[in-house]
Amino acid sequence: MHELQTPRKTALQVSSPIVSQPFTKITSSTNPAVKMLKSLHRKKVRGETGLFMAEGGRLVHQGIDGGWQADYIAITAEGAGRPHIRDLAERARTAGAKVLEVPERILSQITGKDNPGGIAAAFQQRQQSLDELKSGKNSLWLALYEVRDPGNLGTILRTADCAAASGIILLGNCCDPFSIEAVRASMGAVFDIPFASSDFDTFNSWRQSRSARLVAASVNGTQPHDRIAYGNQVAILMGNEQAGLSEQVEAACDHLALIPMRENADSLNLAQATALMTYEAWRSQGYPGASTNS
Ligand code: SAM
Repeated sequence: MHELQTPRKTALQVSSPIVSQPFTKITSSTNPAVKMLKSLHRKKVRGETGLFMAEGGRLVHQGIDGGWQADYIAITAEGAGRPHIRDLAERARTAGAKVLEVPERILSQITGKDNPGGIAAAFQQRQQSLDELKSGKNSLWLALYEVRDPGNLGTILRTADCAAASGIILLGNCCDPFSIEAVRASMGAVFDIPFASSDFDTFNSWRQSRSARLVAASVNGTQPHDRIAYGNQVAILMGNEQAGLSEQVEAACDHLALIPMRENADSLNLAQATALMTYEAWRSQGYPGASTNS
């Protein structure tokens, strides 16, 4: 009987580079996995699967680096030929993702974009409860009341992330932060800024329990937004694009801030008003967490 021996490595084996396994090639847009990825455009399917899409090397990189679980990667042959895109797909595969190599036209169908950037990923959604949101010595929360436009929501996530906000609270019937439009507009901030959903009354009790002032931005504001004592613990409340805030909600706030406008001007765009409010509150706190580049 021959004894099993550990084969000795040849010089060729020692010096040859690691050759990765090919990805599963799919060319039909009726493949079940491709159909599921395409249907992630629908909120109902995102709700059922708990997945959402992010497209392009930058966003996929941010998700994977942030430890978000990718269940599927779709990559084009051209993308697989680019080392950093291929490396992302390899890392996701090691972490359990199915990697599908698809033609450009199928990646475009999955992402809804003509130029999808060689790679897209379906990540598992994550959302925190109000109690999981962390407070610090300075906390700056952004509460959005029934925001409906995913482009606005994504832009606000991006602003909140830049201004080192502690988190976003989505109040009432808001649009989905995991829609591809919101993810795209957030430029990846969706992976970095914590957020939770709530009704207004629960949120109001929560912010009181954290001793946070509630400052609403409103076209009915009674104080200019740059004269308000925001304090170290503050929640900024922004209204819906059409209806603003209800009287009842405004009555529950500590301050109603008005961003000055010329006489008879209607209102600012929600995302722009949020940026002005957020930066004013952050400035009043002394820009904690800001990079000085010095
Ligand atoms: N017609 C709506 C209203 O009566 O409030 C306008 C809504 S505005 C497009 C969306 C949100 O942006 C407002 O609810 C408010 O939170 C904020 N906003 C816009 N312009 C503002 C301003 N000049 N001062 C304070 N907040 C403003």
